[in-house]
Amino acid sequence: MNPANEPFDPDAMRERYRVERDKRLRVDGNDQYVEVVGAFERYTDDPYIESGIDRPPLDEEVDVVVIGGGFGGLQMGARLREDGVEDLRIIEKGGDFGGTWYWNRYPGAQCDIESYVYLPLLEEVGYIPREKYSYAREILDYSQQIGRHYRLYDGALFQTEVTDMFWDDHQSRWIVETGRGDSLRARFVAMANGPLNRPKLPGIPGIGEFKGHSFHTSRWDYGYTGGGPDGNLDRLGDKRVAIIGTGASAIQCVPFLGEAAERLYVFQRTPSSVDVRGNRLTDPVWAAGLEPGWQKRRMENFNGLVSGVPQGEDLVNDGWTDLIGKMIRRFRKARAEEGVDISEVMEMANFDKMNEIRSRVDDLVDDPEVAEKLKPYYRMFCKRPTFNDEYLPTFNRPSVELVDTDGRGVERITESGVVVAGVEYEVDCIVFATGFEVGTAYARRAGYEVVGRRGQTLSEKWAEGMATLHGMQSRGFPNCFFLHISQAAFTANFPHLLDELTTHVSHIVGHALSRGISTVEVAQDAEDAWVETIKAKGLLAMGALGGPDCTPGYYNNEGKAREPGAIQSAPYGGGSIEFFRILEQWRGDGEFAGLEFTC
Ligand code: NDP
Repeated sequence: MNPANEPFDPDAMRERYRVERDKRLRVDGNDQYVEVVGAFERYTDDPYIESGIDRPPLDEEVDVVVIGGGFGGLQMGARLREDGVEDLRIIEKGGDFGGTWYWNRYPGAQCDIESYVYLPLLEEVGYIPREKYSYAREILDYSQQIGRHYRLYDGALFQTEVTDMFWDDHQSRWIVETGRGDSLRARFVAMANGPLNRPKLPGIPGIGEFKGHSFHTSRWDYGYTGGGPDGNLDRLGDKRVAIIGTGASAIQCVPFLGEAAERLYVFQRTPSSVDVRGNRLTDPVWAAGLEPGWQKRRMENFNGLVSGVPQGEDLVNDGWTDLIGKMIRRFRKARAEEGVDISEVMEMANFDKMNEIRSRVDDLVDDPEVAEKLKPYYRMFCKRPTFNDEYLPTFNRPSVELVDTDGRGVERITESGVVVAGVEYEVDCIVFATGFEVGTAYARRAGYEVVGRRGQTLSEKWAEGMATLHGMQSRGFPNCFFLHISQAAFTANFPHLLDELTTHVSHIVGHALSRGISTVEVAQDAEDAWVETIKAKGLLAMGALGGPDCTPGYYNNEGKAREPGAIQSAPYGGGSIEFFRILEQWRGDGEFAGLEFTC
């Protein structure tokens, strides 16, 4: 126990962190998870479709195809519309726009980044979120509002999955084929597949044997649980429920399961850090006084603060900025003093913050033994921090039991329950809160292969490591753009990255379309140079997200951060602010450096 502000032994704490991490290291890394194919494919079925769409297959030519109708696709569509591109189609697997927020409707689903910086295009659309932290339902509604505002429903193909995508050199077109028999010939394609789009399941022995009900948090089965995203899961009153996983999704839905289920078992491998939420309604007076350009300023302020760059003021002023702000203040103080080891000071600041998090568990959980198990023993940012005021008190309910697996994970699943340390917990339902694929091959996560010039697939090209310019374009795959973090940048506020990427892509596509340029391709030397830049700073980027000495998780490639492929797929190590500046300068000089155009 290390309550905040009480003296502690840093060496003992370092050792404790190491022991906890070592317990969790596994040789199988990402292979510990089973892919949602074959018998597991049903875990990706869409439970939210009210009526299926029936339409004839399309066979047509289009200027731009955007794959994905989440924030990436919406922001891409918006920027293209602003740059005068009218002929575009968005292809989306779900039944509507929303992406992550279409799929993740579990009770309590909420964005833990402040809504005023997270929801994109607020000024353009003319919308002010209702609360500081929006719930999923509002975000889904707002996604649809963006779609209407930019006329993106015109040409949107919902409930449609891309199956094949290949470059036709003869026509200089991408042929995009779908599961509905569509064949689109596109001049340009933007891939907005999302970073956390493919649910993953744990490869627990016996996972296929369970005879009860089960689903993944991103496909919540309200038909089974009753209720809705606001809770009131009234069909669980006579059910014993297991939830496996205690990441950001579980933290938000456990309070609702705990409230409703006859019995809830929470199976924990690694505890999350759970900080104060403190949501509040938007102040209409504040909203009325916002000056034009406010959202961009606020996004940059937030990004600056969470990137460790002093900003003079903290506009967002929440758990994220407080967390980093405290560390920065310590850093600046240390820098001003002679002979101080700055890394040691930063480590102490991190210990202090985590002591505060651990002490909060003692404050909120009645049973000291349960409280001890809920305490995270790792550095802040080894795992994604979470913010919630109801999760920890849920363990005070007599009907809720924490089953801690001591870092080893669930031992086995049987026909009727979940086994840990030889004890079987019989349940009616298992909820998998086990997250999404991150470190697996791009084509596997996308769900289709991208075939470029001379029949080369993206998987082949990236087999030895990803190769792009700015993360967005890869030689041999002309007129194709990737909207993702790898070889681009990491920021806690993902839509901010998407804003910068889509602005950049739209700039290139708009230029090409208006000049009759038929192909845009990265020059080999430009791609090589960018890959070298990423590799040179790769571990720095991984370090910001956890690093090799952290507890395993998707932030550090499940403990395999030092693998060359992982380093090469890392975001730009100079940080998002520097990356955004690189893009802005690149656009500003008008040279389109590193790109080859053909007419
Ligand atoms: P995560 O990947 O964060 O969590 C998966 C959980 O499953 C972990 O607790 C993991 O344990 C556990 N797990 C995996 N395998 C086993 C096993 N064999 N036995 C027991 N437990 C196991 O998924 P989430 O869906 O929670 O979150 C994914 C991401 O989605 C977040 O990191 C965040 O980026 C985003 N998100 C954002 C929200 C927001 O507010 N903006 C809200 C919710 C999610 P271990 O930690 O040991 O690996």
